[in-house]
Amino acid sequence: MTVSSVPSFQISKAGDIQQSLRSCFFTGKTRALSWRKQQLGQLKKLLDENEKEIFSALASDLGKCQTESWLGEFGFLQNDIKHTLAHLKKWSAPRKVSTPLIAQPGKSYLHAEPLGTVLIIGAWNYPLQLLLAPFIAAIAAGNCAVLKPSELAEATSSLIAKLIPKYMDTDAVQVVEGGKDETTELLAQQWDHIFYTGGEQVGKVVMRAAAEHLTPVTLELGGKSPCIVDGETDLRTTAKRIVWGKWMNAGQTCIAPDYILVEQSLKDALIAELKKVLKKQYGDNPLDNNDYGKIINQRHFLRLVNYLNDAKIVYGGNKNEQQNKLEPTLVEVADDTHPLLQEEIFGPILPIVTVEKIENAIGYINQRPKPLALYLFTKRKEFEHQVLAQTSAGSVCVNDTLMFMTNPELPFGGVGNSGMGNYHGKAGFDTFSHLKSIMKRSFKFDVPVRYAPFKKWKLAVLKKLA
Ligand code: NAD
Repeated sequence: MTVSSVPSFQISKAGDIQQSLRSCFFTGKTRALSWRKQQLGQLKKLLDENEKEIFSALASDLGKCQTESWLGEFGFLQNDIKHTLAHLKKWSAPRKVSTPLIAQPGKSYLHAEPLGTVLIIGAWNYPLQLLLAPFIAAIAAGNCAVLKPSELAEATSSLIAKLIPKYMDTDAVQVVEGGKDETTELLAQQWDHIFYTGGEQVGKVVMRAAAEHLTPVTLELGGKSPCIVDGETDLRTTAKRIVWGKWMNAGQTCIAPDYILVEQSLKDALIAELKKVLKKQYGDNPLDNNDYGKIINQRHFLRLVNYLNDAKIVYGGNKNEQQNKLEPTLVEVADDTHPLLQEEIFGPILPIVTVEKIENAIGYINQRPKPLALYLFTKRKEFEHQVLAQTSAGSVCVNDTLMFMTNPELPFGGVGNSGMGNYHGKAGFDTFSHLKSIMKRSFKFDVPVRYAPFKKWKLAVLKKLA
């Protein structure tokens, strides 16, 4: 293993980095299973030996408490590495498929080969997890990688840039810090895959740049994730689970419930229950509660505060401008053109939208771009089937929020405007692999009917064999 203390590279070297990683890839060393396993072990060691520093960087960037840092970032990555190491041999083994009669005697299989040199661009809200989870998949698949952390999560970005070269093989892995200019420079290079997490607008920039080189992309984007609450539900547990999923990381979670859809007749009871749970979970003064996070920066803080200008606040709404903190806030919005119902909120404000009949929630969702996540709370099986059959979303969780993230067997990614491609577990390994189709024929027997000169009887036999 190469342990190096080489610092992360500067922007002017984007081309050099790409070239040097490419050279490393062609030595073949990253293809070896032993290298991949060893690198995953090093990443685990990086996490284990620097837990404290990581937690304090996340606290500095987002005011994340230790439990949230463990749940959404640290523990997630540890489990991901464990799961990947446990399955790596199987995922990388030849995947046998059947062979048709016409190609007999022969064997067919898929061989997962690494793509080469990949670029991974992370976002600020889970600044460690969103960069390292695709990275785990990329090295598990045998690639070289450049990591570009989000500049908005400054402390985590510089910690990643400091730690990665200490633990990982710097011939194959580099970190480039920076914002728009540095990312633009990186995007101008030719990669074998670009994995981007972030907003839709920059997603388009990434895709345009990738098109220049016909580079495949994974775009992990966002959008407005609806949460339908049916009359037939366990309201207490529903409220508890919505509050947990919405206000984790102060609402700055791409899959947080963005708005609630509920029948008018249930609205007051739901609001009462949400208020009760919010008080229980965050106390009377959430702004002073260390378990409750802050908004990443002033720009995003002001964006969120502006949303409240002409909204009917039914809970919360207080703020601390010095600390960029905004209380968990419930609002009622009747006007469909209000920005709260048009833009992704990505913060601690939860609008409650009423529909005449809960079944109308389906039409409401279908009139909007396809969401990254959809939540449904109901005990009615037929309604559950109806929602699942008639709506589209990257992921769905019935009777809870966010929990699908705990299962590495469930691929994670958007659909339509919420993104393309997916990862986690085997899906991530496959994203960073090319599944090469291989057929191996035997010399033992050669069916003559496909060769010229063609005859009617040959065609008849061919038709039977196909
Ligand atoms: P961001 O500002 O951190 O940007 C993401 C990355 O793009 C950063 O690394 C940044 O340096 C780079 N970047 C920014 N502007 C650029 C430009 N003009 N050209 C090239 N690169 C540029 O994050 P964000 O966009 O504010 O992220 C929030 C969005 O991301 C939300 O929509 C959220 O839903 C989505 N998101 C999605 C997921 C997911 O897994 N699907 C996870 C987190 C966030």
